[in-house]
Amino acid sequence: MLLKAESKAEHAAAHENIDDRTDFDVVRQRTLKNAMSCTGVGLHGGQPVTMNLKPADANTGIVFRRTDVSGEDAIVPARWDHVVDTRLCTVLGNKSGVTIGTVEHLMAALAGCGIDNAEIEVDGPEVPIMDGSSEPFVFLIECAGVVEMAAPRRVIRIHKDVQITVGDSEASLKPGECLDLSVEIDFDSKAVARQELSVGLMNGSFRKELASARTFGFLHEVEQLRAAGLAKGGSLENAIVVSGDEILNEDGLRFDDEFVRHKMLDAVGDLYLAGAPIIGCFTGARSGHAANNALLRALFADDKAWSYDVMRGEEIQRAVDGGLHAESEMAIDAA
Ligand SMILES: [Zn+2]
Repeated sequence: MLLKAESKAEHAAAHENIDDRTDFDVVRQRTLKNAMSCTGVGLHGGQPVTMNLKPADANTGIVFRRTDVSGEDAIVPARWDHVVDTRLCTVLGNKSGVTIGTVEHLMAALAGCGIDNAEIEVDGPEVPIMDGSSEPFVFLIECAGVVEMAAPRRVIRIHKDVQITVGDSEASLKPGECLDLSVEIDFDSKAVARQELSVGLMNGSFRKELASARTFGFLHEVEQLRAAGLAKGGSLENAIVVSGDEILNEDGLRFDDEFVRHKMLDAVGDLYLAGAPIIGCFTGARSGHAANNALLRALFADDKAWSYDVMRGEEIQRAVDGGLHAESEMAIDAA
């Protein structure tokens, strides 16, 4: 912490010869304190799934492990360059063809709670859909507890505008002070229509504004998917279903604009596949998983558009922690 009376130069001098562990003026990496598991169904396969969230070492990032696959083939890193399908959800894969689907709502929860490192064990090809939002995953992270590690958090700073168009979807990243998201959707149905929302991802905002917004689908699409042998696990328990201008869920919506909030939640999850938190402004118009991944590919194709950095000084207040307090690993080491 930078004391007001201490000038920046004095502060830097005082800390010059001190290693990371005693430099309190930097945002550090976080992982889970304990392992925590949950069970659910896969949205598309409809099969039962057990998922186990586990702590991981500093600089590991988020890594999936298929427990039904043996050896190195079981490992699928949660990174943009491992995205193999974006049509119905975001699917990751490795060079052996082992895949893990519907990762976006879990990735959003990890991003929104400021979890830098975790190993995610799943016993099949899909992350469980739970209630169609990120809230059950945030609850799981909260139950596991959070630990702050010695290593500083690595962030991706945006230096220039990057934009992409995929069909009628548009998405862009611009320089900014935190991950500031602006999303706009426009659907034919009166139940959804045009919605727009801007949220800055900071302390606790993910949890309050986005985590509980559920995925949604239109009845005619759900019927087509079912006919194609997909969406087998989909129900009114894990999605908002819209038929014409009506919402079929008896209890209605969790937010008046739940649809655009969910689109933003998806963007938070998909953007976390950058491999580190992005510090910049995201805008999406009618965007989805395909546009989000195309945007990351365009970003990483241009070395001048971004760089790695750490967050220090006043920026610490804009770090994402989901409102979840972290115990210090250093304090645990010292005890
Ligand atoms: Zn979604």
